[in-house]
Amino acid sequence: MNTHTYEISSRDGASGYLTIDLRALEHNYHLLLQRTAPVPVAAVVKADAYGLDASRVAPVLYDAGCRDFFVAHFGEAVRLKTFVEPDARIFVLNGLQPGAERRCADLGIIPVLNSLDQVENWSRTAVSRGDALPAILQIDSGMSRLGLPPEEMAALADDSALLKGVDLLYLMSHLASADENTSKQNGEQLEALRGASGLFPKLPLCFANSGGIFLGSDFHGALARPGIALFGGVPSDVPGIAVKPVVRLDVRVVQTRTVPAGSRVGYGGAHQTTKETRLATIAAGYADGLPRSLSDRGAAYHDGVRLPIVGRVSMDSMTIDISALPPGTLKLGSLVEMIGPQQPLEAIAADAGTISYEILTSLGNRYHREYR
Ligand SMILES: *Cc1c(COP(=O)(O)O)cnc(C)c1O
Repeated sequence: MNTHTYEISSRDGASGYLTIDLRALEHNYHLLLQRTAPVPVAAVVKADAYGLDASRVAPVLYDAGCRDFFVAHFGEAVRLKTFVEPDARIFVLNGLQPGAERRCADLGIIPVLNSLDQVENWSRTAVSRGDALPAILQIDSGMSRLGLPPEEMAALADDSALLKGVDLLYLMSHLASADENTSKQNGEQLEALRGASGLFPKLPLCFANSGGIFLGSDFHGALARPGIALFGGVPSDVPGIAVKPVVRLDVRVVQTRTVPAGSRVGYGGAHQTTKETRLATIAAGYADGLPRSLSDRGAAYHDGVRLPIVGRVSMDSMTIDISALPPGTLKLGSLVEMIGPQQPLEAIAADAGTISYEILTSLGNRYHREYR
């Protein structure tokens, strides 16, 4: 085996650049804090902080005053512990799989209990250790995904033995339509959560994700838990949300060419030119988080000019029509913008038929990353 270590990600000669603006992240955290004040704001940093690298993101949020972090899986929580100081609380949204309880308790990680099974396992662990173990209790307020349905909440409230040894910190639920300001479902879920809250009147509430924060203070509870808005995603259709973009993506040109009318472009010959066309092949594809659904739909930008994607997006490259630019503008090594001021995250997501969350979490590790 070769024992040298090589710097893989070097700025020079990279195929693409993912720039992550940590100042904007900090700005967004403070913006959300202003919205919820005096209610504190946790940070949801699941999926490696929405693909932006929890090891870089979490310390910035910690330094900005954040002391509560949510991840989805227990393994993510264990990893996150090394990126924040010991006074930070780390919560596991999915709760625990059987067998993870002891280690979770040892590490001081706090599960969200989503079912009677998870309650039972956590309670048994607490009793066998002889100490109280903290947890969040989640109620399903109408999403049918995670959390106890109302009947099970009632059963739990009736039989205090079921929660023996468990120190409940919050009653939590999750909004299904928080991005739609006028959705009736928001109010319905709030009512359901308040109903459950009647069974556990002492428990503070934890409800709002990013979109929920902009539904108003009724939704803020005692701890808000945004993710996407921290990372520059516009979280809802409420106008005027001043979230700053965090991510910028620029991709290098690999090759340019001029083809005559009738030329086929890309896999399957799915695109055929109708006139002489100048093309550029750029160095990112679906393995770099630019979905195949952008084929013949999306675009890159250069100097304010839209450069449509032509033909199918490949694994490592795609072809764009650069006829709208003066000849010679782009050549080997030139940069085009995929995400940035000319093409916000939401715009590329819409072209791909998806949401900003999926774009962010798919960007992958092949770009040179620069944290500012
Ligand atoms: C992902 C997630 C969040 C964060 O949602 P955003 O829309 O990204 O703010 C909050 N709560 C739960 C339960 C989640 O799964």
